[in-house]
Amino acid sequence: MVMNRKVLVVDDSPTFQNYVSALLEDAGFEPIIFSNKTDTLAFIDTKPSLICAVLDYCLPDAPKGEVIDEVLEAGYRAIVLTGNADKTIRDELLKKGIVDYILKDSSVSLAFLAPLLNRLVNNIDKIALVVDDSPAITQYLAELLERQYLTVHTASNGIEALEVINNCWKIDLVITDNDMPLMNGVELTQHLRMEWDREQVAIIGLSASTNPDLTPQFLKAGANDYLNKPFNQEEFYCRIHSLLDRQDANEQLYFLTNRDELTGLWNRRYFFNFAAENPVNFKSIAMIDIDHFKQVNDEFGHGGGDHALKTIGQILNTAFSTALPARFGGEEFVVLCTSDIDVFNAEVEALRDQLEKTSISYNGKTIHVTVSVGVASGEQSVPQLLKCADDNLYKAKSNGRNNVVY
Ligand code: GH3
Ligand code: MG
Ligand code: MG
Repeated sequence: MVMNRKVLVVDDSPTFQNYVSALLEDAGFEPIIFSNKTDTLAFIDTKPSLICAVLDYCLPDAPKGEVIDEVLEAGYRAIVLTGNADKTIRDELLKKGIVDYILKDSSVSLAFLAPLLNRLVNNIDKIALVVDDSPAITQYLAELLERQYLTVHTASNGIEALEVINNCWKIDLVITDNDMPLMNGVELTQHLRMEWDREQVAIIGLSASTNPDLTPQFLKAGANDYLNKPFNQEEFYCRIHSLLDRQDANEQLYFLTNRDELTGLWNRRYFFNFAAENPVNFKSIAMIDIDHFKQVNDEFGHGGGDHALKTIGQILNTAFSTALPARFGGEEFVVLCTSDIDVFNAEVEALRDQLEKTSISYNGKTIHVTVSVGVASGEQSVPQLLKCADDNLYKAKSNGRNNVVY
């Protein structure tokens, strides 16, 4: 799947080219600019990898949107820029299978472009489930979503939908009809809400029914939104985008709250929450402290110290088969093991050994670090075990550092 941020921009006005280029670059995209159909097609022939093409409807050598057909034909996503607000032309464009159109009437309309492209990029990681007993509608919905890079699964009733979800590693969005055999959409929504909340799985109810009670039924069952069939394609996309944007914002907030920014490891807050939410009788905790880390900062600067912390974070992230590593603070890390203690003890020693042998390159120099580790195991509470592990860490430091005390 396309993971770059290249965007083809075709417009014959140099002023407009500059304006859109700046807009896209500011948003972290790489615009590739052409002014006419001939050059655009020659470029497309090279089969470039692109997120999307942003195409002017009217070009000197393609006055009636001809370049759009060619770009779509070649399998690319397209957003059309048009100065023409004529409804027939817009409907015709949407029917051709463009992602969306943007009116060139004001900077306000154009401000829609970068968020739309960002949405497309983020959709690459999104998985949707379309549930409808009409194969034609299922296919139409799947096409609309796939056009915006979502991965789509389908089911023809609520029971089948639950099976698909159980066999899928995640589902971000469910779009469900109501009237279906075996289990209807409202019942499906209720089932899904028993396990996932509105931020984890967004649900949109969909129905051709004229029953005005259906909207509140869906919403009260936990659906995030509701749409009548037939629906307007632009409205469909707007509603999906607002749900997925919100989902992403929540995910970002979760990571900002629970991840350590420098190393990418879980932070102290996550560590304690995890321990509280996964209570087990017997567990093991390792406290890891980098030896003489102040000297690393003194010799290589704070940037060198940060780089070493990041590298150690990466190593820690893959060092344990089941245990949970986290950055406890400063140059201290903590690992919680709730399963096989013998395996864990061996992994702790292997980690110490690996770090001792690791050369960290920084600005043409090499940083070497070692760690001292205190491990404590038992049926005590997490704070009690942390205290024992810390005592053992102190002993490891007194033993001359670069060793593990169990
Ligand atoms: P010991 O072997 O006794 O643990 O010695 P040490 O120098 O590692 O211990 P000390 O607690 O004296 O110093 C820890 C140092 O870690 C001091 C602090 O500046 C540095 N440090 C803590 N957090 C960070 C960070 O995020 N980045 C960098 N670069 N340094 C950090
Ligand atoms: Mg310390
Ligand atoms: Mg230290």
